Amino acid sequence: MKERYEVIVVGAGHAGCEAALAAARMGCSTLLLNLYIDNMALMACNPSIGGPAKGHLVREIDALGGEQARATDASTLHIRWLNTSKGPAVQTLRAQCDSRAYHSAYLNAVERTPNLDLFQDIVTEIIVSKGRVKGVKTRLGLTFTGEIVILATGTYLGGRVHVGLVNFPSGPLGQMPASELTQSLLNAGFEVGRLKTGTTPRIHAASVDWASLVPQESASEPLAFSHWSQPRVHVGHACYQTRTTPRTHEIIRSALDRSPLFTGAIEGVGPRYCPSIEDRVVRFPDRDSHIVFLEPVGGQTAEIYMQNFSTSLPFDVQVEMVRSLPGCENARFLRPGYAIEYDFLPPTQLFPWLETRIVRGLFCAGQINGTSGYEEAAAQGLLAGINAARTLRGEEPVVLGRGEAYIGVLVDDLVTKGTQEPYRMFTSRCEHRLILRHDNADRRLAPIGRKLGLIDDGRWRVLEARWESIKAEKARLEGTRVFPTEENNALLRQAGTVPIETPIPALELLRRPEVTWELLQAMVETPSSLSAEEAASLQTEIKYAGYIEREKRAVERLERIERVAVPENFDYDSVTGLSSESRGKLSRFRPLTLGQAGRISGVTPADVQILWVAVKAYHERESRKG
Ligand SMILES: Cc1cc2nc3c(=O)[nH]c(=O)nc-3n(C[C@H](O)[C@H](O)[C@H](O)COP(=O)(O)OP(=O)(O)OC[C@H]3O[C@@H](n4cnc5c(N)ncnc54)[C@H](O)[C@@H]3O)c2cc1C
Repeated sequence: MKERYEVIVVGAGHAGCEAALAAARMGCSTLLLNLYIDNMALMACNPSIGGPAKGHLVREIDALGGEQARATDASTLHIRWLNTSKGPAVQTLRAQCDSRAYHSAYLNAVERTPNLDLFQDIVTEIIVSKGRVKGVKTRLGLTFTGEIVILATGTYLGGRVHVGLVNFPSGPLGQMPASELTQSLLNAGFEVGRLKTGTTPRIHAASVDWASLVPQESASEPLAFSHWSQPRVHVGHACYQTRTTPRTHEIIRSALDRSPLFTGAIEGVGPRYCPSIEDRVVRFPDRDSHIVFLEPVGGQTAEIYMQNFSTSLPFDVQVEMVRSLPGCENARFLRPGYAIEYDFLPPTQLFPWLETRIVRGLFCAGQINGTSGYEEAAAQGLLAGINAARTLRGEEPVVLGRGEAYIGVLVDDLVTKGTQEPYRMFTSRCEHRLILRHDNADRRLAPIGRKLGLIDDGRWRVLEARWESIKAEKARLEGTRVFPTEENNALLRQAGTVPIETPIPALELLRRPEVTWELLQAMVETPSSLSAEEAASLQTEIKYAGYIEREKRAVERLERIERVAVPENFDYDSVTGLSSESRGKLSRFRPLTLGQAGRISGVTPADVQILWVAVKAYHERESRKG
């Protein structure tokens, strides 16, 4: 076994696997160290991928050449579109996966990738010399040296599990925690924080009265996440809906004195957007019911996950709570719900390419940066792996803009604002939703993935052919006329739009909000040969062309100020007119661009203007000198 690598990745969760795959695929000799190989890419919570904003991240990871969408497609049990009644900007897929198949898909990808070694051991220390990382030490007493180390330790760092008033050191799902590394990070000068997350009980499928519940079947049309997967229809694994009852709420209220959340046993801050069921009952006392989904954990197991029912109440209370839900009166438990506290590194200690500011060559990705979610983790892992390789080659790091990708929004939020609670991606965090859509991730990002060497010739040809056929279809629609026949006008009236009096280009007719793609196909002589997804993408581009153009111009305008570089060692004390709050925050967070400066909370637009003038003067002085 080698002892020297270019890149060492600590932790093979969703972030670590993507990081290692990207670095190795970009030609770096890479070592992926994991505490236990069987928990690689473990879906510690619900084995579900996607949903609003998270689905967008998965498509972006895929377009850049990452693995997550393919692992999802290889393990999907149930998939459907979400937000179909809303605008195209927020529509995306959500898949329920077989957690073991998802793990195997990542394991196979890692095992098959040249330049990549996988080894089971716990990293206990990072080796740092003169502000640069030099490698890692492990529990077995091994030393691996490397120019880049990527930390992707998830919820394992200093992990402590709580079930009622019982608590003990542990990783998720009974895994071993990683306890010693935190001290090494503190010794290196990092600030370390504490967060918490929680999960739901798991019950046995045979103990649920399915006939009394409402099923939600997988989509009837073929679907897939990856741009390169064959879309499929999935049958046989419905998700089911039940709800909490007044009795559930009563049980919860009467047990709050034994809740680690409410008695102060848990210090870490939990996710506000994804609260435990006890938290919901306390925060929304007027609601007497909350929806709970019962979802399969795998195709070969009877284990059922209870979405929206995360809890850390004592086990005896959990049993009563679960059995108060319709359909679950006789539920048998396979695993209890629990909360887990863990250490994280506040992400304002990072550059926007995910390298730490304190120790050069050390990168962080995933939950260690304060995020929550498989998709958020994988997105950061991919970026960290890419930037590890670019750093080694002496190339500029990749930093995606807020107008370019959800990944750009995610990283920018983390490094400029930090986070006080587990950060999750939402569509509302993104200012340019209409141009950052699920359907156009390939056009936005695949050219970058291709340049980085992460998209091979075969996959690139598939995309080129797709873009070509969409372009050809658009031209065809421009040249195709719809005639004012009786049948066509009857269809238009039926759709609630005015009939036509003269022949009209099909593309123009499609701009009408009432005219759907399907309706148009019924009015033209030769129907389109585009796939449903290609057609939906073209339709959005046509219907929203005006808005999309306006949004693109807004992004371009912002880019001008966004990209103005602020020197890392800029002396904010020398700038007159800055408020003392802004001066303090700018000195602490050290933004690298004016755009980042403006997004630091407490830095006002007026202060950004003052800073702009000062930075311009600085650059002019420097260019006169140079
Ligand atoms: C209880 C619980 C509830 C959750 N709830 C949700 C939720 O509701 N919604 C949601 O989106 N996400 C949820 N998650 C979060 C989701 O599981 C994580 O965000 C995601 O797994 C983070 O990915 P990661 O790659 O950063 O870390 P992880 O997936 O945790 O992977 C870290 C990996 O690093 C390894 N490792 C750690 N330290 C070391 C070391 N020192 N040496 C070697 N190997 C090491 C571990 O063995 C593990 O394989 C939950 C997680 C838990 C545990």
